[in-house]
Amino acid sequence: MTAICEHCGDDALPSVYTPEGSSRGLTVHVCGRCGLVQSLPRTDRAQRRAAAVSSAADWGNVRYGKGFRTATALDAVRRHVDTTRTFALLDVGSNRGRFVQALIEAAPQAHVVAIEPDERVADSCADIDRTELTVARIEDVALETGRFDLIHSCHTIEHLAHPARTLRDHARTLKDGGLLVLDAPNIALIGSDDIVEEWFIDKHLTHFSARTLLRMVEACGFEIVEAPDPADRENLFIVARKRAAMAAQIAVDAGEVDRAYELISSYAAMRAHNLAALAGVAGELTALAPRGLAVWGAGRIFDSLVVHGGFDPKRAKLVVDAHLAGHLGERHGCALSGPEALSEARPGVIAIMSRGFAREIEAEARRLAPDAEILLYADLLGRARLRLAA
Ligand SMILES: [Zn+2]
Repeated sequence: MTAICEHCGDDALPSVYTPEGSSRGLTVHVCGRCGLVQSLPRTDRAQRRAAAVSSAADWGNVRYGKGFRTATALDAVRRHVDTTRTFALLDVGSNRGRFVQALIEAAPQAHVVAIEPDERVADSCADIDRTELTVARIEDVALETGRFDLIHSCHTIEHLAHPARTLRDHARTLKDGGLLVLDAPNIALIGSDDIVEEWFIDKHLTHFSARTLLRMVEACGFEIVEAPDPADRENLFIVARKRAAMAAQIAVDAGEVDRAYELISSYAAMRAHNLAALAGVAGELTALAPRGLAVWGAGRIFDSLVVHGGFDPKRAKLVVDAHLAGHLGERHGCALSGPEALSEARPGVIAIMSRGFAREIEAEARRLAPDAEILLYADLLGRARLRLAA
């Protein structure tokens, strides 16, 4: 069967990129009509795998990132809904229930339907007050028309084989004037000059820009109330209101097609350059190891450093990761510790292998190990790139 664009239905979907290490054999395509970036084939219902961390496309199931978005979503609910009144909310992809828990505490009359396919984490929602949990995929759940005042969907839409179909169904299950609070990864991140991880991971089938996500949401029966913050390159956070009619025809967007091509080709070149520079980062850290080296961050950047940079993780006296330590015992043969281990280990140098939370981690590292020199990933990579260019 010929694949067609999930947004505009066009069948011109040239392949533009092959992700590193895809266990599903996915390739990345740009719709020649609307510019939506999508991975094909849309392998629905793939086997779930054990928790894993990898810098390649087979990156696994450690979904702790969603928890950081709770405050953003709850603030949006407070901006648009009177939280003292009775309302019904659908939470799509409830994960460990952090948002549901926070909402139930903030809104004493709210009722929640929580949908989460992963039975290993869904249990966390099972005992929350005024919450009805369904362990299933959103596509498989038949919900009443006009049941909800609000739908919250955080970092879920990009996983779906047919996101537009689900958005249209969200519009159907909302009351007239009901709100959709939607959060998704932003493809703009691949334009970062320090990217080393494979962005096009197997779990994500649609890779939205602000423009393609806004257009899809509008076409599926919504008007935009809050558009994504242009300064946020990691997340596309949207608030939209159900409106009466759906769009009949999706217009051509040649500018978006060009932007998608440009972004993906510069990403491929930048990532290759940075992967080559990682050997230099490994060299700098190895030279510092005799002073007592701690690495903070055992996620995808650390994985790239070992796999592509050739860093011997045994050189680190300590590998710290506040979140992964709770999910995985070790990475590349190194036991993972929580941050508190730093105060006892007293490292001379702490290398922070994180992008999104580097400043927060730096402050915490200074508090726990005030005498240590602190190095940030972006600076280490920057120096290695300069050496590579010289
Ligand atoms: Zn299209």
